[in-house]
Amino acid sequence: MRMILLGPPGAGKGTQAQRLVDAYNIVQLSTGDMLRAAVAAGTPIGQRAKAVMDAGDLVSDDILVGMISDRVNEDDCKNGFILDGFPRTLAQAEALEDMLAQKSLTLNAVIEMKVDDALLIGRITGRYTCANCGAGYHDENLQPKVAGICDNCGRTDFSRRSDDNAEAVTTRLQAYHEQTAPLLPFYQAKGNLKTVDGMADIDEVTRQMKAALEPG
Ligand code: ADP
Ligand code: AMP
Repeated sequence: MRMILLGPPGAGKGTQAQRLVDAYNIVQLSTGDMLRAAVAAGTPIGQRAKAVMDAGDLVSDDILVGMISDRVNEDDCKNGFILDGFPRTLAQAEALEDMLAQKSLTLNAVIEMKVDDALLIGRITGRYTCANCGAGYHDENLQPKVAGICDNCGRTDFSRRSDDNAEAVTTRLQAYHEQTAPLLPFYQAKGNLKTVDGMADIDEVTRQMKAALEPG
């Protein structure tokens, strides 16, 4: 199973990807996570990307295409993958088409998670993750079962992203509408776009996604 999750920042792509990984035994390829790891490790890519990410702008297409192209060649991608946060521009989408064609691979689905902008600000500013395993939470919408303890790994350290502030969020939403939303008609024209209601509760969104992936 190979799929793209398409949606604005805060739509719930990472939250759903964590569930689909288990359901389909595939890997999550989050370009945001990869870039944050590069920033934390201080690699040349991380050094180039840091200020751009903090401002909420998009990192250059050549960096992203190179990163994904290397990553999908790794062994753990053989059974399939979920692209979370990539592609984000038409140039990236076209590069992905070429990349998959060269490997004789096809996409099973592109799933759009539709959420109004008004809801996204609260989703993003309330978001935090386990600093150890990366499990995602929200101040109101998704709290650990026992306060302060990660459901997944039992650790007690959590972190918030430096770009999850109101100012960067405005730029990120603008980048989505201007540069990423044109991918919707692009994939619609190819016939593999499915849309789910990203404003529904988390379990309902998962149900809609599985229905979209397993029609009939
Ligand atoms: P994305 O990866 O698309 O940027 P996330 O999956 O990180 O978004 O979700 C953003 C925040 O919203 C997280 O804190 C998450 O717990 C919360 N969230 C995700 N999906 C829903 C939902 N359907 N309803 C309410 N809150 C949600
Ligand atoms: P995300 O974790 O998906 O919200 O991404 C965080 C930030 O990483 C974005 O605001 C961009 O600066 C950068 N980024 C992630 N994926 C891409 C991409 N496909 N193209 C360009 N920039 C990206």
